[in-house]
Amino acid sequence: MATIKSTSYNIYVGEKSFDELNKFIKKQSYSKYVIICDENSLTHCLPKLLFNCEVLNQAEIIELESGEENKTLETCTQVWGALTDIGVDKKSLIINLGGGVVSDLGGFVASVFKRGIHFINIPTTLLSMVDASVGGKTGIDFSGIKNLIGTITEPKAIFANPVFLETLPLRQIKNGYAEVIKIALISDAAFWLVLKKLKNSIQFRNEEIITKAIELKNVIVKKDLHEENIRKSLNFGHSIGHALESALIKQEKDILHGEAVAAGTIMETQIAYQQKRITKKECDEICIYLHSIYPKIKITKETQALMMEYIKHDKKNEGGALCFALPKSIGKYELSCIVMPQDVKNVIELY
Ligand code: NAD
Repeated sequence: MATIKSTSYNIYVGEKSFDELNKFIKKQSYSKYVIICDENSLTHCLPKLLFNCEVLNQAEIIELESGEENKTLETCTQVWGALTDIGVDKKSLIINLGGGVVSDLGGFVASVFKRGIHFINIPTTLLSMVDASVGGKTGIDFSGIKNLIGTITEPKAIFANPVFLETLPLRQIKNGYAEVIKIALISDAAFWLVLKKLKNSIQFRNEEIITKAIELKNVIVKKDLHEENIRKSLNFGHSIGHALESALIKQEKDILHGEAVAAGTIMETQIAYQQKRITKKECDEICIYLHSIYPKIKITKETQALMMEYIKHDKKNEGGALCFALPKSIGKYELSCIVMPQDVKNVIELY
């Protein structure tokens, strides 16, 4: 088991993290426990949690409907209502048991309820273990825009237990793995070599892989919690990836965040090569690897036009210019790389 020190809290990774959870709960003397989950984490993960952490059998359970479409203010209103009915006070603990939707919404709900109550994250998807639950970003979608409303509020602890991933469908494992690849490409060339040697996708959820990915994200987040500087490097693959995700969602196509990010990583890698930030060999290596894992996404002319609209309005743009975080050889990054809209169109066509 690994203990990763974050700003003011610990991230426990591994099957033994249940022991740490028991210790954490014993030490804190909370007045009440509330577990927020969705129907899938309730079915697959809650029994494991309650078996390994008996004191939580007295917890109140709030079940959300799964899916990004429920990461809304309406759901928050329902949860705040439930917390009020339950009699949650300032000394209560909220436990977010689920994927990124649960940790984003649950963290946000906790961060403003009674001006903020304690919460911990127990991520149950690979994406939430290596990315969403780490780094203090909480939030909900609003007015059709992803993560428009939220806070930066850190959990009191994170318990990432790979045991929960046993029931996660392969597509969801690959979804989270896109973020593992991204963090390797921008911050650790040696880790990238490890990833390339993984033989099958079950290994994507190995404890060592999860630990390393969290460590790397944590290093960045600890230095720049509020994304004023180096945290922007985590956006590699996301400028085009987000635009693609938003465009496909608008067209009511089936797409997961990580799948769009994988495609975005391929396209932004091509831009990094065209701007001579990485070599042809590095570019090919990255693109071939990503193509071998993720099915190619069909980008129609309409999708492309929508993508260009989203890219123009990306919140990372500066003074009207498109601004990307790109790799500078594998394992390093450069921020604020200026990219022309035509370059984006070209790599969409190349993809
Ligand atoms: P998700 O929470 O929707 O989970 C994916 C699916 O897996 C859901 O159907 C869920 O019910 C199911 N599930 C969860 N655990 C399971 C388990 N152990 N076994 C079987 N099924 C299980 O999606 P996600 O990919 O985990 O997270 C995506 C969300 O995370 C998005 O809303 C995104 O905006 C957010 N996010 C936030 C950050 C951040 O820094 N806060 C970073 C990245 C992504």
